[in-house]
Amino acid sequence: MKFGGSSVADADKIRNVARRLVAAHETGRPVVGVVSAMGKTTDGLVSLAGEVSSRPHPREMDMLLSTGERISAALCAMAIEDLGHRAVSLTGSQAGIVTDTAHTNAKIVDIRPKRIREALDEGRIVLVAGFQGVSTAYDVTTLGRGASDLTAVALAGALDGDCEIYTDVEGVFTADPRIVAAARKLSRVSPLEMLEMSGSGARVLQLRSVEFARNHGVPVHVRSTFSDAEGTWIREDPSMEDAIISGITHTTDEAYVTLTDVPDKPGTAASIFNAVAAAHINVDTIIQNAVTHGDADITFSIPRAELPLMTDTIEVLCRDLGLHWRVDDAAGKVSLIGAGMKSHPGIAARMFQTLAEHGINVRMIATSPIKVSCVIAREAVPDAVRELHAAFATELDLSRGGAAHV
Ligand code: ADP
Ligand code: ASP
Ligand code: MG
Repeated sequence: MKFGGSSVADADKIRNVARRLVAAHETGRPVVGVVSAMGKTTDGLVSLAGEVSSRPHPREMDMLLSTGERISAALCAMAIEDLGHRAVSLTGSQAGIVTDTAHTNAKIVDIRPKRIREALDEGRIVLVAGFQGVSTAYDVTTLGRGASDLTAVALAGALDGDCEIYTDVEGVFTADPRIVAAARKLSRVSPLEMLEMSGSGARVLQLRSVEFARNHGVPVHVRSTFSDAEGTWIREDPSMEDAIISGITHTTDEAYVTLTDVPDKPGTAASIFNAVAAAHINVDTIIQNAVTHGDADITFSIPRAELPLMTDTIEVLCRDLGLHWRVDDAAGKVSLIGAGMKSHPGIAARMFQTLAEHGINVRMIATSPIKVSCVIAREAVPDAVRELHAAFATELDLSRGGAAHV
């Protein structure tokens, strides 16, 4: 059972989480709670680091950021003991989450949940500090922003359990319920669709946690910390027909880097993206235009937070390969996602039409078999999401009821 930042934001909320963990424990099943840092703690620590250093060392960043989750885990364990149950809090390292050495964005390489199992066998509720592990070089690592979801899914996989993600909305909605009042809670989303939704901005589940769940067949239930309502199940369900459109997602967290004068010869794209990968930067959309006069343009999106990290890499690359570059940091992206799209032509055209009718210019387009994404002006993103949600109401099947409760 994983509880996000807003679910553990203050002492009362931590006591509420403790009660929920105890109630689950009382049904007779062993319970592991994974907790995020309280409220906006991680953001606060990131800006604090920025105040003392222009380039905080990634190793020290991990030492710093891992503390937020430890606070929540310890407080939650205390609250459970107060309710007359036995609990123990563990750091990611103590919980046996072993990672590579890529500080601030480490990958899990092994899970050795021996201590968790022992504590469960003693009848304890185990609290694990989310979003962290220990590297193969014995340093504290963190797994990337929002990665307490990943801790939870990975531990559920290793312990052969189900994974419940408790958050501040009642599940996965057809669009961010904070932007679209008419958004509907989905009772089920296939792992592939959830992958596309998370990958294009539905931050309710962190992308890598969805990848992990899909690769390891871990069923995930996203639901509210503050109600008992059934949420959204992420799992295969062959009995259901694919929805034409399951959701409309958006992101305003990306920057778009364009490289110009890219030589049209084998190996150029490889050199560029090898350099980007070596800096541990996650590139999402990549678009290369058709070559007109010997040179091409390549545009790709990166998390805005990684723009400073990217600058060095790009400058070296441009010098070595004779490229030029510019950044568009005033854009955002809206996407339509649906596995049924494959068999319904015309969805993309209607998307462009809807945006055009509302005076929204499309700067870039990217598609996958089950997704259409448009890069547009950042300030137009909320309107675009609302207009698309209205325009595709039939495909989203809003008649099935269950409007948003935030
Ligand atoms: P937590 O702190 O519990 O991890 P997050 O803030 O990471 O929570 O994710 C929950 C938030 O995700 C919601 O408050 C909601 O605003 C946002 N969100 C974006 N897209 C969606 C969507 N399609 N369905 C549900 N929530 C969404
Ligand atoms: N506290 C971390 C973050 O804010 C991890 C998480 O909440 O999942 O990114
Ligand atoms: Mg989250």
